[in-house]
Amino acid sequence: LEKGIRRGQSVFTGEDSVTEERLSRGGPQAQVSDSLDLNAVLRVLHEVRNGDFTVRLPVSSTGLSGQVADSVNEIIAAIQAFERELARVGRAVGKGGSLNQRVNLGLDRKTWVGCADSVNGLIDDLVRSTTEMARVIDAVAEGDLSHTIVLETHGRPLEGRLLANATTVNTLVNQLCSLLSEIIRLADQVGSSAKPSEQVTVHASTGGVWKDLADSVNHMAGNLTRQVGDIAELATAAANGELSKQITIDQRNPTTEALLYQTLHDPLTGLPNRTLFNDRLNQALLYASRDSQPLTLLMIDVDELKDINDRFGHDLGDALLAAIAERLTGVLRVPDTVARMNGDEFAILPAGPTDLDGAAAVAWKVLHALEAAFVIDGHIIEARVSIGIALFPLHGADPRDLLRRADLAMREAKRSRSGFAVFAAIREKATAGRLALMGDLRHCIARDELVLHYQPKVDLARQEILGVEALVRWQHPIDGLLGPDLFVPLAERSGLIAGLTRWVLNEALQQLQMWREAGLDMTMAVNLSSRSLESFDIVDIVAELSETWGIPPDRLHLEITESGLINAAAPAVLQRLHEMGERLCIDDFGTGYSSLANLQRLPVDEVKIDKSFVIDLGSAEDNATIVRSTIDLGHNLGLTVCAEGVEDDVSKRMLIDYGCDVGQGFLISRARPAGDFLTWLAQSSWEPRQMSSI
Ligand code: C2E
Ligand code: CA
Ligand code: CA
Repeated sequence: LEKGIRRGQSVFTGEDSVTEERLSRGGPQAQVSDSLDLNAVLRVLHEVRNGDFTVRLPVSSTGLSGQVADSVNEIIAAIQAFERELARVGRAVGKGGSLNQRVNLGLDRKTWVGCADSVNGLIDDLVRSTTEMARVIDAVAEGDLSHTIVLETHGRPLEGRLLANATTVNTLVNQLCSLLSEIIRLADQVGSSAKPSEQVTVHASTGGVWKDLADSVNHMAGNLTRQVGDIAELATAAANGELSKQITIDQRNPTTEALLYQTLHDPLTGLPNRTLFNDRLNQALLYASRDSQPLTLLMIDVDELKDINDRFGHDLGDALLAAIAERLTGVLRVPDTVARMNGDEFAILPAGPTDLDGAAAVAWKVLHALEAAFVIDGHIIEARVSIGIALFPLHGADPRDLLRRADLAMREAKRSRSGFAVFAAIREKATAGRLALMGDLRHCIARDELVLHYQPKVDLARQEILGVEALVRWQHPIDGLLGPDLFVPLAERSGLIAGLTRWVLNEALQQLQMWREAGLDMTMAVNLSSRSLESFDIVDIVAELSETWGIPPDRLHLEITESGLINAAAPAVLQRLHEMGERLCIDDFGTGYSSLANLQRLPVDEVKIDKSFVIDLGSAEDNATIVRSTIDLGHNLGLTVCAEGVEDDVSKRMLIDYGCDVGQGFLISRARPAGDFLTWLAQSSWEPRQMSSI
């Protein structure tokens, strides 16, 4: 592979023209000969063996000699193609991380195909073991310790960094396993109170929830030890006839009961925790099925708690959760169970038989109770929640099924912003589909299934095309062409977004370079996920790919949504990109928290007014006012203003009147594949800029 890389590079730097010349049959080296010149064949083969794949046999147009020369030349050309291909893939793989390349030979020669196969096999192995690692880490995070990473694929052991990483993950899993069994063993012992003097040891490299767990078991064991000691002392005294002694109850030490309370309640809100909730649910299900009575379960999720945490800090987020808990308990009946399941999730188990109507009534009560804004630390905070409902026995008899289905319904409510939703089997299918997508998503780059569509951005007043925005789609083998809304959020949540962003940037810049070579001078806008602004990696990727494709920095526009600006690293990352000369654009402006004045502190070049304000510009007066003042303010701050979602002539005209610089929308063109884009361009009334015009 390395050899391929080295050779590939020399092939790429400048020898192409020579190659082309030698390749063309009528080129200066071609001679017409009637008999096969064996010496010539040997000479050429010798050259080939020395690594020069640019040589070719002179060919004659007819006869056996011509055929032989033809096929020798073809083989050499094939070797050359293979070398280039290896170099391309080798470079991509060598750069680290980019495992999305495939060796691709448009020919069927067995050897080369075999060779390509083995490179592809290697890439597959790498992809597989990386995926495997992600899978195991995900499982551990979920508390499932039954997986470790297999250290070989296809019978080949892992090597190098992959091996080191895999081994670390496995060691960690093993440590967690032994910690868990130690906790269980100790808890058993404490439970049977035989010898509660043992302590759980927490390995230094583990922490978080595991350490907390160990700590609380230790605490419990310590208390029991003291009490058993006291009892023993008393018993000894009593046996000696001394009956005046009493067990001293130390108020400073929580009793077992208090400890039990602690293990079953959430310290922040004082509500039952997941363990207690599950226990109550189990009990309730037993009664409900014995008495053939219906039962319901509500899952409540606080929308955008993360944003609130990011914006106001965790203390305030915690205070909000506690306040929400208080309102929840306030509106529910005393025997109902309301629990904090984790982070931003609550669950309600109404006491006694409840049917769908009953559950809906509870949901309405909750939504109503949370309508009024919270005032915390002088901040006015609106908490919205999404509620999912599942019914027993209709949606399942098993507590786990019910919980999962209430959770799915909750997600549906969140997606549709409907406040609450009842589980429907049909949706489970759709969600199962989404989960399957997540599995496929890990491979979509390697399988070459992503495509970019391009949508023009135009100078409205001058009727001129300024550039395009790259919008990613996934050509799914079964589900067809999927829009980014279906999989970009998935990619963000499953840590695959970095690979996706890199792919998009590479593809978009390569396309831009091709258009530039064809004489079109355009800008390329690429959407960055807010995740991308969490580290400086994006800076390196942009620099590397711009260099690879020879794109001047001001030709690349990076579109960032306001939510991307919330994380702490964003301003510094944007500053670096700005210093490199990239143009930065705030996307979907008007839908988030930021004000234009806030943006002033960031090195932003453009704001793009969200399509929701633009689409019905002609008919919605409010929107017209917002758009107009955003344009004015943007201009006052020295920003270029773009409006997306231009769907009709009226809006276009108004935007021009308001002085909006750039427009984008279905009126001009939908996003289309690169090929269609040129066809559209040829017959469109929008003028492209030519390279020569700069
Ligand atoms: P966006 O950046 O706001 O992209 C504009 C979306 O609006 C596109 O949808 C586009 O097809 C649509 N659109 C354009 N003109 C009109 C119009 O006149 N009317 C209406 N109703 N819609 C219009 P698309 O392609 O489905 O993209 C959806 C979102 O997915 C994008 O919103 C962007 O946030 C995200 N996205 C797309 N490509 C990428 C990508 O490569 N990386 C990341 N991180 N996100 C991407
Ligand atoms: Ca965009
Ligand atoms: Ca947008």
